[in-house]
Amino acid sequence: MEKPNLVYSSKINKIRSFALILLFVGILIMYGGILTKSTPWLMFTFFGIGVLFIILSTLVYFWIGLLSTRAVPIICPACEKPTKMLGIVDACMHCKQPLTLEKSLEGKEFDEKYNSPAYRRKLKAKKLEEKEE
Ligand SMILES: [Zn+2]
Repeated sequence: MEKPNLVYSSKINKIRSFALILLFVGILIMYGGILTKSTPWLMFTFFGIGVLFIILSTLVYFWIGLLSTRAVPIICPACEKPTKMLGIVDACMHCKQPLTLEKSLEGKEFDEKYNSPAYRRKLKAKKLEEKEE
Protein backbone atom coordinates (compact mmCIF):
# COMPACT_ATOMS: atom_id res chain seq x y z
CA MET A 1 0.00 0.00 0.00
CA GLU A 2 1.24 3.43 -0.86
CA LYS A 3 1.77 5.79 2.02
CA PRO A 4 0.41 9.34 1.79
CA ASN A 5 3.14 11.92 1.24
CA LEU A 6 1.68 14.41 3.64
CA VAL A 7 2.52 14.03 7.29
CA TYR A 8 -0.28 14.88 9.65
CA SER A 9 0.54 15.98 13.13
CA SER A 10 -1.64 15.55 16.15
CA LYS A 11 -3.98 18.46 16.78
CA ILE A 12 -2.89 18.91 20.38
CA ASN A 13 0.74 19.05 19.27
CA LYS A 14 -0.15 21.59 16.60
CA ILE A 15 -1.89 23.91 19.06
CA ARG A 16 0.96 23.47 21.52
CA SER A 17 3.54 24.59 18.97
CA PHE A 18 1.30 27.53 18.09
CA ALA A 19 1.24 28.60 21.76
CA LEU A 20 5.01 28.25 21.95
CA ILE A 21 5.45 30.44 18.85
CA LEU A 22 3.20 33.09 20.42
CA LEU A 23 5.31 33.00 23.57
CA PHE A 24 8.53 33.45 21.58
CA VAL A 25 7.05 36.28 19.53
CA GLY A 26 6.00 37.99 22.76
CA ILE A 27 9.48 37.68 24.23
CA LEU A 28 11.07 38.92 20.99
CA ILE A 29 8.80 41.97 20.93
CA MET A 30 9.67 42.73 24.55
CA TYR A 31 13.33 42.38 23.64
CA GLY A 32 12.66 44.96 20.94
CA GLY A 33 11.38 47.18 23.77
CA ILE A 34 14.70 46.89 25.57
CA LEU A 35 16.52 47.92 22.38
CA THR A 36 14.38 51.06 22.07
CA LYS A 37 14.56 52.15 25.71
CA SER A 38 15.96 55.52 24.64
CA THR A 39 12.45 56.38 23.37
CA PRO A 40 10.12 55.60 26.28
CA TRP A 41 6.82 55.62 24.35
CA LEU A 42 8.22 53.11 21.83
CA MET A 43 9.58 50.93 24.62
CA PHE A 44 6.20 50.90 26.39
CA THR A 45 4.41 50.09 23.14
CA PHE A 46 6.75 47.15 22.53
CA PHE A 47 6.30 45.93 26.08
CA GLY A 48 2.54 46.27 25.89
CA ILE A 49 2.33 44.25 22.66
CA GLY A 50 4.78 41.70 24.06
CA VAL A 51 2.68 41.23 27.19
CA LEU A 52 -0.43 40.83 25.01
CA PHE A 53 1.25 38.02 23.06
CA ILE A 54 2.31 36.29 26.25
CA ILE A 55 -1.22 36.55 27.66
CA LEU A 56 -2.57 35.14 24.38
CA SER A 57 -0.11 32.26 24.60
CA THR A 58 -1.22 31.53 28.17
CA LEU A 59 -4.83 31.48 26.99
CA VAL A 60 -3.95 29.03 24.23
CA TYR A 61 -2.19 26.80 26.78
CA PHE A 62 -5.30 26.98 28.94
CA TRP A 63 -7.39 26.05 25.91
CA ILE A 64 -5.17 23.00 25.28
CA GLY A 65 -5.82 21.97 28.88
CA LEU A 66 -9.55 22.16 28.27
CA LEU A 67 -9.27 20.28 24.98
CA SER A 68 -7.16 17.57 26.58
CA THR A 69 -9.91 16.77 29.03
CA ARG A 70 -12.25 16.25 26.09
CA ALA A 71 -9.78 14.25 24.03
CA VAL A 72 -10.18 10.50 23.85
CA PRO A 73 -7.18 8.63 25.28
CA ILE A 74 -6.28 5.62 23.17
CA ILE A 75 -3.36 3.30 22.57
CA CYS A 76 -1.92 3.89 19.12
CA PRO A 77 -2.22 0.73 17.01
CA ALA A 78 1.02 1.52 15.16
CA CYS A 79 3.49 2.39 17.94
CA GLU A 80 1.47 1.12 20.93
CA LYS A 81 2.06 4.30 22.92
CA PRO A 82 -0.78 6.08 24.68
CA THR A 83 -2.02 9.08 22.73
CA LYS A 84 -5.02 11.39 22.73
CA MET A 85 -7.21 12.21 19.80
CA LEU A 86 -9.53 15.11 19.08
CA GLY A 87 -12.41 14.98 16.67
CA ILE A 88 -13.30 12.14 14.33
CA VAL A 89 -9.87 11.95 12.73
CA ASP A 90 -6.54 12.85 14.27
CA ALA A 91 -2.92 11.72 14.17
CA CYS A 92 -0.88 9.90 16.79
CA MET A 93 1.28 12.27 18.88
CA HIS A 94 4.29 9.98 18.65
CA CYS A 95 4.39 8.34 15.23
CA LYS A 96 1.88 10.56 13.36
CA GLN A 97 -0.17 7.53 12.40
CA PRO A 98 -3.57 8.77 11.17
CA LEU A 99 -6.29 7.60 13.55
CA THR A 100 -10.06 7.58 13.37
CA LEU A 101 -12.88 6.94 15.81
CA GLU A 102 -15.35 6.38 13.02
CA LYS A 103 -15.59 2.79 11.80
CA SER A 104 -16.85 3.79 8.36
CA LEU A 105 -13.70 5.90 7.82
CA GLU A 106 -11.25 3.12 8.66
CA GLY A 107 -8.75 2.54 5.90
CA LYS A 108 -9.75 5.73 4.13
CA GLU A 109 -7.21 8.42 3.45
CA PHE A 110 -6.79 10.89 6.27
CA ASP A 111 -8.56 14.16 5.59
CA GLU A 112 -9.10 17.11 7.89
CA LYS A 113 -12.48 17.67 6.28
CA TYR A 114 -13.85 14.78 8.34
CA ASN A 115 -13.59 17.05 11.39
CA SER A 116 -15.72 19.81 9.90
CA PRO A 117 -19.16 20.39 11.44
CA ALA A 118 -20.76 19.85 8.02
CA TYR A 119 -19.28 16.39 7.73
CA ARG A 120 -20.33 15.53 11.29
CA ARG A 121 -23.90 16.48 10.50
CA LYS A 122 -23.81 14.32 7.37
CA LEU A 123 -22.45 11.42 9.38
CA LYS A 124 -25.15 11.84 12.01
CA ALA A 125 -27.87 11.93 9.36
CA LYS A 126 -26.45 8.82 7.74
CA LYS A 127 -26.43 6.95 11.04
CA LEU A 128 -29.98 7.97 11.77
CA GLU A 129 -31.02 6.67 8.36
CA GLU A 130 -29.34 3.34 9.01
CA LYS A 131 -31.15 3.04 12.31
CA GLU A 132 -34.52 3.58 10.71
CA GLU A 133 -33.97 0.94 8.08
ZN1 LIG B 1 1.62 6.05 17.25
